[in-house]
Amino acid sequence: MRRELLDVLRCPFCGGPCEVYGHAHRTLPEVVVHGVLGCACCAYPIVDGVPIMKTSDDLSDAIRAIERGAIDDARALVTDLPERDRATLRAPFASFADAVTSLLPDGEGDYYVRRFGDPTFIVADGIARAVARVVGPSSAGRRFVDVCSGCGHLARTLDTLRSHDAPPVMALDASFWRLQVMRRFIAPDADAICMDANLALPLASHSASLAICNDAFSYVWSKRALSADMQRLVHPQGAVVLTHVHSMYGENATAGNTLAPSAYLALLDRPARLFDDARLRDERVRAQVVDLETPLTVDVGPDVVSIVASNDPRVFEEHVLPDPLVHGVLRVNPLYLVTADDDRLQLELSFPSAHYAEEFRAARAYLPATLTIPRRWLERTHWNDVDVLALRRSSILLDVPESYV
Ligand SMILES: [Zn+2]
Repeated sequence: MRRELLDVLRCPFCGGPCEVYGHAHRTLPEVVVHGVLGCACCAYPIVDGVPIMKTSDDLSDAIRAIERGAIDDARALVTDLPERDRATLRAPFASFADAVTSLLPDGEGDYYVRRFGDPTFIVADGIARAVARVVGPSSAGRRFVDVCSGCGHLARTLDTLRSHDAPPVMALDASFWRLQVMRRFIAPDADAICMDANLALPLASHSASLAICNDAFSYVWSKRALSADMQRLVHPQGAVVLTHVHSMYGENATAGNTLAPSAYLALLDRPARLFDDARLRDERVRAQVVDLETPLTVDVGPDVVSIVASNDPRVFEEHVLPDPLVHGVLRVNPLYLVTADDDRLQLELSFPSAHYAEEFRAARAYLPATLTIPRRWLERTHWNDVDVLALRRSSILLDVPESYV
């Protein structure tokens, strides 16, 4: 944990600032690896650089373990994996795909591996790119915050969008092990805080320029509290964004606790608009456009919606996204089976399961069933060729971290 995080870290119960208590394990003076945080009301463990801003009997035991120097015991107490997998988390996995399919063999691992190119992510990524370009510079020095970040796919997008003098992206998630996987493979420069989205967010007011919650808000029980707290976090010139929110009138394989689209919109106090995710997805893959000017005005129809709230009217325009730099390496979308044939790659669209194929069927709209491309297109010197850019725009080729698959 970077020591400068203490400037914005706040207790979710008393709202007060926190300090590092007693003897903390550090690698550098400004980095706390293991230690104990305290505020006026409570104490929290820091394990492997991640503050855990929740309370439970296990976390109290983890604090005592840290105080007696038993870091392995503390790690076991805070790691939200079955006991047999806790040691596995520190195994020398070759890649993100290796890690998540080992730790989540039931299909959720397959979902995470395919995340960067799936139809849900394309919409959230597009909105993040459109909004961050407006609010990032106008509230400089404040953070982009990914609320319920999972393994940090969107945090990586936000990290590539922040200006060089901006503080690190903040990833907040309930799952300690997902945050560890994020820091190891997906977004190593992001700050991570383990938290409970049903409590107040553990950050100071106005410390963010953008707070975005992707594909998670439908599952959070305390929607009134979370949306109010995201607004507290964000500076008046910033933006609050809820992407991939399930409509109670829509069809969703894993719906969560849904509301009507207009009821989600009513949770936001600053000027806000509702959008149909299916329209945003189609426009992104067809023309790299994110139209935040044209709101959705009906409740019944879309299965999935997104909400953008900001006092800055420039957010609510039609944004044409520039082709981004490749920050990692260019790879074929993992939704394809790839067969190498001399200097060519044969791509065949292949879903990992019938359940996945149904939930993410919209991928068929932008990913052709079969395709053959020259192998050399994956080489760095070709990443900005006209033909390669076309495949990047339609998510057939993806910018992924180096040790992703
Ligand atoms: Zn407190």
